[in-house]
Amino acid sequence: MRVLSGIQPTGRIHWGNYFGANRQYIDLQHGNEAYYFIANLHALTTIRDPRVLRQNSLDMAIDLLSLGIDPNKATLFVQSDVPEISELCWILMTADILGYDADIVPVGQDQVQHIEVCRDIAGGFNHAFGEVFVLPKAKVLDDSAKVVGTDGEKMSKSYNNTIEVFEPFKAMRKKVMRIATDSRPMEEPKEPAGDHLYQLYSLFADEAKREEMAALYRRGGFGYGQVKTALADAAEAFFAASHARREQFSANPRRVEEILADGASRARKKAGEVLKRAKKACGL
Ligand code: ADP
Repeated sequence: MRVLSGIQPTGRIHWGNYFGANRQYIDLQHGNEAYYFIANLHALTTIRDPRVLRQNSLDMAIDLLSLGIDPNKATLFVQSDVPEISELCWILMTADILGYDADIVPVGQDQVQHIEVCRDIAGGFNHAFGEVFVLPKAKVLDDSAKVVGTDGEKMSKSYNNTIEVFEPFKAMRKKVMRIATDSRPMEEPKEPAGDHLYQLYSLFADEAKREEMAALYRRGGFGYGQVKTALADAAEAFFAASHARREQFSANPRRVEEILADGASRARKKAGEVLKRAKKACGL
């Protein structure tokens, strides 16, 4: 299978990005031909400072590598380094997805409608000009298609309710401690299913730990502070290795630039093939 996805360099990766999308990038790089891009062209509408855009793009590459993207397995690149896609844009909206013949697009729930639009557009082109484009399918994870934020709403940069993956652990713990909770008395048994603190804890816990926590909720007589501490501990342990790898990558930005340059040349090769096919089909 061919896999493609992208992430905007408009901020740092948060838990929603990781559990909804980036975790899938890492899993799917094994046994597939995977392309992952840093969507700096999309970010132009948000970031108005060239230095910030450049720095954020490099930081995003470092974050993804530190989380486990392996440049020997996946093709990691910056969107604007593949001009073939910009040319394909003239023929077709959603060229950034269709330009790599992707079968699967790992994303969070909020992106599924975009992939649907993309399929419609590709289907329309194929109908007019023959089988040129592969129709991609969105791939969302059932248990983390829509990760909640510190306020219980969907975690999103635009809602100011995020917890970042590479936040220093001290700051991360502070954010965890500030997660909004209801004011029911400690003694009261609670149903864990609808509780966003429990949902966040579940992202990091295995089945046994989840059950243990659920039992604690149902029994009652505990404080939310206890759950928050368990969540902060679990998150810290979960991301510790990635934090350590990030130190190494950020000490060697040259290496990261090389990885991105190599990724761009591989991505250009694929996008070039698709562009050629599309132009030929429609008479350009
Ligand atoms: P944001 O919504 O924070 O601006 P992006 O739009 O850059 O994040 O999204 C990057 C990827 O992360 C997309 O695949 C998106 O679906 C996924 N994603 C973002 N927020 C969440 C969330 N709360 N739960 C699950 N996936 C998410």
